[in-house]
Amino acid sequence: MSDIINILPESVANQIAAGEVVDRPASAVKELMENALDAGATHIQLIVKDAGRTLIQVVDDGCGMSEGDARRCFERHATSKIRQANDLFALHTMGFRGEALAAIAAIAQVELQTRTHDNELGTAVTVEGGRILNQSACSTAPGTSISVKNLFFNVPARRNFLKRDSVELSHIEETFRRIALAHCDVAFSFYSNDRPLYELRVANLAQRITHLFGDAYKERLYYIEEHSDIVSLHGYVGKIDFARRTRGDQYLYVNGRFIKHPSLGAAIEKAYADLIPDRHYPGYFVMLEVHPDRIDVNIHPTKTEVRFIDEHAIFAILRAAVKKALGLYSLDSRIEFDPSTEIDFSPAPAGYIPHEPKIQYNSAYNPFNEHRSAGGGRQQWENFFDEEDKSSAHEPAPQLQLPPQEPVQPATCIQVGGRWIVGALPSGLLIVDQQRAHERILYERYCARNDDASPQQLLFPVTCTFSPADAEILAELLPALRRQGIIAEPFGRNSYVVSAVPDNGCEPQLQQLLQETIADYKASLMQPADKDPLCLALARRMAVQQGVTLCQEEMQQIVADLFRCQTPQYSPSGQRCMAVLSDQELTEVINTR
Ligand code: ADP
Ligand code: MG
Repeated sequence: MSDIINILPESVANQIAAGEVVDRPASAVKELMENALDAGATHIQLIVKDAGRTLIQVVDDGCGMSEGDARRCFERHATSKIRQANDLFALHTMGFRGEALAAIAAIAQVELQTRTHDNELGTAVTVEGGRILNQSACSTAPGTSISVKNLFFNVPARRNFLKRDSVELSHIEETFRRIALAHCDVAFSFYSNDRPLYELRVANLAQRITHLFGDAYKERLYYIEEHSDIVSLHGYVGKIDFARRTRGDQYLYVNGRFIKHPSLGAAIEKAYADLIPDRHYPGYFVMLEVHPDRIDVNIHPTKTEVRFIDEHAIFAILRAAVKKALGLYSLDSRIEFDPSTEIDFSPAPAGYIPHEPKIQYNSAYNPFNEHRSAGGGRQQWENFFDEEDKSSAHEPAPQLQLPPQEPVQPATCIQVGGRWIVGALPSGLLIVDQQRAHERILYERYCARNDDASPQQLLFPVTCTFSPADAEILAELLPALRRQGIIAEPFGRNSYVVSAVPDNGCEPQLQQLLQETIADYKASLMQPADKDPLCLALARRMAVQQGVTLCQEEMQQIVADLFRCQTPQYSPSGQRCMAVLSDQELTEVINTR
């Protein structure tokens, strides 16, 4: 038998490697921007056309490349950042594999112009499908400009696999934000189809956050800072009132690198336990500094995953830092200092014999039997580190529906705790969570709608302003919003005027409603879900919230509408809406309490 093993030609090998490094325009953006940062740039421009399909250009004023390097940088394993294996463990740069430019050049038409600061003339190189077509001297500003044209031009399968422009642009925008947040000492600009989306000047972290996310964020964040031998951290965490139902603005960095670290993310979220409603998530922008010897960033090719040697300690420090910020700042504005509660530390009179304190305890109490309450409950220290992620609860398949049709309504309902609607049914005691139930009702109503809802004209139309990128997303959502009764029209730069809202009695906070709808919609673009994101977002925002007092008629309406739903047991986000306690269960309750 003859030999059958071939060595792949370099160009094929590069194309295969390219698939791992560059899977969509946003990943090319990431690599190019990180190279610019590694080159010490103080100003980086990102220019994209057609969400990066036609053009991704990154222009920097960094160190530039020599004539030889300008050619060499496109070769595989070409890197100026490591020379020997040991360097791998002392990395302070973003890139080090020497793969990115080779990969990008293998699947696009690339034009490089670069000049070092001590050279009069620069070098221009044109590469296509991995082959250098042309190299010449050129006059150009010091620094580097790389244009990546027609990404995946020679990999049609991948090109066809790209999502709509709005999806790809959302990914690029997210990449841009992640990088810009970590490098406040660098100015950035971002143009999409010749429109400026962001112009970020050198700033501190708080300013960078508001430049990226809007001025409203000024009021939404607390500062955190903590220093120890294991970790130094600083940043901002969201105030409890601004917790959202999506894990939107969660940015965690280690040594200037954006990371995804579910357990450290949970450390922050746990600091909010009991302070924010179920299934709400805080926003955060947190920078960790850890000695490079104590982390391993090289476990994932795109390097958003990191392993920490001192993970448990960092978890505890991070959680404590967030708690401190929440406690320190939120208490002082809420609780007025009452001198009468001051503890009296005056010494006891001479000869005073204190009573031995009597400790009362319940000998039957077993902490391991305790049920956690619905709101997340008190944190048990045993599961401090490894509590299951509550968000993994899923709505069960519809065939599991129970109880069967409940034809009868309670004659009277009462509202308990601003949250529960309670009433008697022939089968037992009905308990309905008003907010979740209303979300379910609205969600099914919105999804079922095939013609436009009857809008209710606003007496005073409301103008809402967004970031340029969000304004663009909203343009895409207008027809769907109109179907739900929200009429918004473009009104100058990045603004919309809303002239009508759905005719269902709720007067929503429009700016917030639209902002959060956009956020949910963007999240769904990046992580497609089986739910209609717009209906879900609207249902969540329009539903009656916890704490709202309902009259008898409103309670009856919610119960009746809920019973008519296809899946009355669960809210659209998969939480229980209702329960019926049977006679037997009620007996058990009364006997065990
Ligand atoms: P890596 O960043 O992992 O080293 P890349 O393929 O991204 O690999 O880049 C290869 C090399 O090209 C870099 O190590 C660097 O020397 C050079 N280079 C790339 N982009 C730039 C830039 N914008 N400015 C200066 N040098 C650059
Ligand atoms: Mg690189």
